[in-house]
Amino acid sequence: MMIPTIPTPDELLDKGFRRGKKAADLARTSKIPRHLKSKRIEETRVITACQVIKDRIKMILDRVPDIETLPEFYQDYIDITVGVDEMKKALGALNWAYGIITQLEKDYSSRIRRSSPEKASTLQKQAYGRIASVVNKIKKDLDFLDFAKANLRNMPTIDFEATTIVIAGFPNVGKSTLLRQITDATPEVANYPFTTKGIQIGHLERNWKKIQIIDTPGLLDRPILDMNEIELNAMVALEHLADAIFFIIDVSETCGFSIESQFNLSYEIKRIFDVPMVYLFNKIDIADVNKNTNEKLKSESDISYLNGLEETDDYLFISAYEGKGIEDIISKLSSVRKIERNKNEDMEFY
Ligand code: GDP
Repeated sequence: MMIPTIPTPDELLDKGFRRGKKAADLARTSKIPRHLKSKRIEETRVITACQVIKDRIKMILDRVPDIETLPEFYQDYIDITVGVDEMKKALGALNWAYGIITQLEKDYSSRIRRSSPEKASTLQKQAYGRIASVVNKIKKDLDFLDFAKANLRNMPTIDFEATTIVIAGFPNVGKSTLLRQITDATPEVANYPFTTKGIQIGHLERNWKKIQIIDTPGLLDRPILDMNEIELNAMVALEHLADAIFFIIDVSETCGFSIESQFNLSYEIKRIFDVPMVYLFNKIDIADVNKNTNEKLKSESDISYLNGLEETDDYLFISAYEGKGIEDIISKLSSVRKIERNKNEDMEFY
C-alpha cells in the first residue's frame, strides 16, 4: 500500500554505517598518496553513510502521497484511522532529518578534507555521533509511520469516476444479499475504521456507466445516537462518495425491527447525507400481503410513510432473495446522477 516498510532508527543507522564501512574499505585499497588516504577513507565513510540514510528517508517521503492532494474521502479515512496532523508531523520530522543529514554530510566532508590526516578519524566519529542523534530524534515519527502503515493497509479502492451508491439499513434487512445480486463478482472487502466487517464494494456497468455499490456492515445500520464520535466521522467520510443512498427496509420485519424504526433510521441518515434516497422495500416474498404486492403494500398503513417522501426520493418493492425487482433496481442505478465534487476527487488513488 501507500506506506513502504519503515525502519527503526537502529536499522537505519546500521545500514548506513555498514555501507559506510564497506565504502571506506574500498577506499583503503585505492591508489592515492599516503597523506591523503586516511582523509579520503573517512570522507568516503561519512558521505556514504549519509547518502544511504538519506536515500531511505527520501524513499519513504516520495512513496507516501501528499495528503492534501488526496480525495477528501481518503483524507478523512486517514484522519479517522491514524490522524492527518500526526501523519504530517511525522513526515515533517523525516524531512527535517533529511535536511540536517544533508548539512552534516557537507560540513563534515569539507572539514575532513581540510583537516590533518590524524584528525580525520576523530571528525568521522563526531559526524557519526551527530547522525545517530538526528536519526534517534525521529524515533517516534518512524514508530508512528510504522503504526500508520499497519493501520492503512487494505484501504478501500474507490473508483472516483464511478457513480457511487451507499447501502444502508438495519442488520439483516438484506443488504449483503442485495449487493451480491446486483453486482458482478464477489464484492471487494477492504478495511474500514471501526467496523469489524470492513467495507464491501461491488461494481457493475450499465450503458457504459460505471457504478459502485458500497455496504458498510456495522456503520449505517443503527441509530446515530448510539454512535461514538469516531463512528460518526467514519460515516461522514462516506458523504464524499455517495451519489445516492439505497435504504433497505425489511417489510416482513423478520430482521427484528419494526417498519417504523426502520423509517426513523432512514431519516437520521438522510440528515447526514444530502443525496437522493431510494427506499427498497425488501422481502416482499414473505411480507404478509397477497400477490398484488405493490398496490397492497402502498395501501398498508405502515407505508403511509411513503407520503412523507421528498421529491428526490424514490422507492421500489423487491425480494433480494428471490431476485425480484433486481432489474428495476439496476435501471434506477443507471439513472442516479453523479454529483460533481471538488477536483481532488477526480483523481484515482490506490
Ligand atoms: P444484511 O445484514 O442487511 O446484510 O442482511 P443479509 O443480506 O445478510 O440478509 C439477512 C437474512 O435475510 C438472510 O438470511 C437472507 O437470506 C434473508 N433475506 C435477504 N433478503 C431476503 C428476501 O428478499 N426475502 C427473504 N425471504 N429473505 C431475505
